[in-house]
Amino acid sequence: MTEIPALKQLREDWERALVVVAHPDDMEFGAAAAVARWTGQGKHVVYCLVTSGEAGIDGMSPDEARTVREEEQRESCRIVGVDAVEFLGLPDGVLEYGVPLRRAIAGAVRRHRPEIVITNNFRDTWDGAYALNQADHIATGRATLDAARDAGNRWVFPEQLGEELEPWGGVKQVWAAASPGARHAVDTSDTFEKGVQSLRAHQAYIDGLGWTDFDPAEFLEGAARMTGTRLGSTFASAFEVFRLEWGATEDD
Ligand SMILES: [Zn+2]
Repeated sequence: MTEIPALKQLREDWERALVVVAHPDDMEFGAAAAVARWTGQGKHVVYCLVTSGEAGIDGMSPDEARTVREEEQRESCRIVGVDAVEFLGLPDGVLEYGVPLRRAIAGAVRRHRPEIVITNNFRDTWDGAYALNQADHIATGRATLDAARDAGNRWVFPEQLGEELEPWGGVKQVWAAASPGARHAVDTSDTFEKGVQSLRAHQAYIDGLGWTDFDPAEFLEGAARMTGTRLGSTFASAFEVFRLEWGATEDD
């Protein structure tokens, strides 16, 4: 039998985080309970949605879906203690990894000056084998990793800099939620229920998926319990950690 490796605790010695994901609902499929834990500790977390998920509901036109999904995202943020949400307005479903996407995300990093940047899994699959990831997630995650560093270089995207905005080289780590390469996690036992509520807030999206009998609590519990077992807690959310600091060690 192959032994599943234990997960290490994520660091919590930080004050400000910026979440950058492609779609409304991306954080709510597992990582929102971790955000609820951190806002409960008094940390400041801002959400930046690259698109408004306007192409995510088959039976609803993008114009209508944009409004509905932005509202659902604001509500799920409120549930986990996040009151600052911004939408970059890039086109859902057809995001491309490249300089324009890096520029847009670097602008958000410079505006919010986080120590930790959180994004979604951007590996090719969810499980390291067959469960294919989605193109927008891959583009957004890769661009976020680059933008976290771009933000600190005054000669990269210099047109953004001026009286209001300065370079920000303070990002210590980028975390990719639910990555198959995750070796860290955080205990979400006390905030698991808030995570469930934050997913339920995406009701129009869930209805649009047409998954009969989809139960957010049951769905989230499966992954959270498995991750918790590897961390030594009831529930947990897993993250792959990328270190941007000079001299960072394996224990950071
Ligand atoms: Zn998504």
